Amino acid sequence: MQSMSKVNRSERSFTFRGATENVISPDPRSRAWVEVDSQVIENNSRVLKKFIGKDCLLMAVVKADGYGHGAETVANSALIGGADSLGVATLEEGIQLRNAGLKCQILILGNLINAEELYSSFCWDLIPTISGIREAIICNNIAENNHKKFDIHLKVDTGMTRLGCDCNEVKELIVKIDSLENISLKGIYSHLAIADKDLGNTTQPNFTQIQLTRFEKVLEDLGSRSKILCRHLANSVGTLSDRRLHFDMVRVGLSLYGYFPVNHFESNLNLNPALKVKARVTLVREVEKGTGVGYGHFFKTQRKSKLAVVAIGYADGVSRNLSGKISASIDGVLVPQVGAIAMDQMVFDITDKPDIKTGQVLTLLGTDGEVCISPQNWCDLSGSIPWEVLCSFRNRLPRVVT
Ligand SMILES: *Cc1c(COP(=O)(O)O)cnc(C)c1O
Repeated sequence: MQSMSKVNRSERSFTFRGATENVISPDPRSRAWVEVDSQVIENNSRVLKKFIGKDCLLMAVVKADGYGHGAETVANSALIGGADSLGVATLEEGIQLRNAGLKCQILILGNLINAEELYSSFCWDLIPTISGIREAIICNNIAENNHKKFDIHLKVDTGMTRLGCDCNEVKELIVKIDSLENISLKGIYSHLAIADKDLGNTTQPNFTQIQLTRFEKVLEDLGSRSKILCRHLANSVGTLSDRRLHFDMVRVGLSLYGYFPVNHFESNLNLNPALKVKARVTLVREVEKGTGVGYGHFFKTQRKSKLAVVAIGYADGVSRNLSGKISASIDGVLVPQVGAIAMDQMVFDITDKPDIKTGQVLTLLGTDGEVCISPQNWCDLSGSIPWEVLCSFRNRLPRVVT
């Protein structure tokens, strides 16, 4: 297979005379792209670190390719800004960061289940999350065979009902873990089920408070054994809303990227969005009143209109659910998107801003002059959540780091 592709490649460069490196890898800004400001990530990290204070560690959560910002970029910037460690979801994400030269502590938040994965995690110096004795025994065997201790964190379920051992079994489990001589339990943690609700809401029972109480009870039952562990509970919303949730470390994702998970969060924290999504106008057209636009003709012009075709679609991560609902900014002026968002393209009505030309750039998400379009704006229209919006930019959408 390999020699085949080599032949094809040389044939191709022979066939397309005049093809240069430039043609093979075009300017990433030629069609549509994600722009990430690494300095903003660094500042957000610094702001968060200062906010949590010197007795608390900051874990930058960089799973899902750094929430669509590029894991390596985010990891480096967050660490420069003061983050102490990194959190990823999968083994592959951890290995990717090691390959990129990152040397800090990396915790895998997902559950690795077989010996092969756990051995890989051991070799790459990635800390696995353990929810039960089964994986602890596998880790112990790996460490024994390799004559080196295996560091792990234990996860406790306080109400998320996902990963983690039962609250009531922690003490017993830790006794068993401590009897396994080759693993070293370094941390104990839990995860909040409420990621985006207003914690100050008093009309509903505050489930975060219930989780906090359960976690505190677990630690109390462990007595002095818990004191030498890194104890952590808070995600972004927990970090920003209540210091009692901080413990020894906070795991921050969304807010590192510049967003407040609580809509009307009152804060003077200077967190700023680091990401923009931009795309170019590829064609400008004028059409008569009553013209159907795009697949299904979901939109018909109500007047003689000027339209701009823009080269970005749902294959790039702009949900089709947003069809006809969003606007984009150009020169700080908003223009509405019309018709169905297609796989590769969408159309904007520029009748009220008729000076737009082919090749000009629209900002679909992020700040442009006075205008700021946030993932939350899209979520209000589509029923999504900012986390999902951010990690949907993928596949062929290139990333430009500034
Ligand atoms: C994703 C994740 C986080 C970060 O959550 P944010 O709401 O983005 O801050 C923290 N902890 C765990 C276990 C996670 O999976």
